[in-house]
Amino acid sequence: MNSPAVKCTLCKRKEPFFHRVYSGERLCKKCFAKSVEDKVRASIVKYKMLNYSDRVAVAVSGGKDSISLLHILSSMERKFPKASLVAVTVDEGIKGYRDEALEIAEKTCRKLGIAHHGVSFEALYGFTLDEIVTRMRERKGELTPCAFCGVLRRKALNIVALEVGANKVATGHTLDDEVQTSLLNIFHGDVARLATGKPVTDVVHPRLVQKVKPFCEVPERETALYAYVKGLSFQSQPCPYASEALRNDIRGLLNRMEERHAGTKFTVFKSIERLRPALRDLAEKAEFKECRECGEPSSGDLCMACQLLAKIR
Ligand code: SF4
Ligand code: ZN
Ligand code: ZN
Repeated sequence: MNSPAVKCTLCKRKEPFFHRVYSGERLCKKCFAKSVEDKVRASIVKYKMLNYSDRVAVAVSGGKDSISLLHILSSMERKFPKASLVAVTVDEGIKGYRDEALEIAEKTCRKLGIAHHGVSFEALYGFTLDEIVTRMRERKGELTPCAFCGVLRRKALNIVALEVGANKVATGHTLDDEVQTSLLNIFHGDVARLATGKPVTDVVHPRLVQKVKPFCEVPERETALYAYVKGLSFQSQPCPYASEALRNDIRGLLNRMEERHAGTKFTVFKSIERLRPALRDLAEKAEFKECRECGEPSSGDLCMACQLLAKIR
């Protein structure tokens, strides 16, 4: 409980509602929201994520992270008349879950006056994720729904981004997502992914749209709080397939570490950032060509999506 005498660290007037333990700040709602917006702006500048004339496709799932990101980027866009924003949503085809998220995404875009484009797994690949999971289970395959979903969604996002003429895709990945993914890559021994999974991806092929993660230095807890403070609607129901066991264990471990040692997530994030240049030389350089099945850019004869789809056909 905050003592009534304690005032917001930034404005020094209002009563704080949030204690940012890793920085020692105690913030009122207004200063908290502004601090998140400032952090996003600072990350965009630091990592050179966006240019003044970019056409940015914001990947909007309808969850707290992407809805908060869309709001922040939309208010920034107003100051850059040459830049444009467009929202894109991938409908994986998860019955009873994705429908609500799509509705929220659509409503938010209407409210903000941002064009919204959707693409579905069914239209692109001929299967919904539900159908893929059923087939995979029938064949007693070992791959998780998330393993399919992640690869197929990445490809879908790139396709829709190209369709809407975007030269950047902004995703709502938070500091937590970034650190979890880095540790997962270490656990899997995937040096290449560890080296290339930067807050701004490299341009490796003219038809692979550059991805940027403006929330890479914002903890997940703060994107949720931001949505709450701003009164934004978002989908809070978790995905029924969200059971990636190792990621969940890593999430739990990092949250426990953060509680005992505030700032742990930032420390891991910064360590990986410092290691990356050295890792690049260790990682094999992938030569991009066209997938012989779908024609999309791929580092092998068959892209990952086509390899996965072959398992369930
Ligand atoms: Fe896809 Fe897994 Fe996320 Fe569900 S939890 S939307 S299956 S990646
Ligand atoms: Zn304040
Ligand atoms: Zn392919």
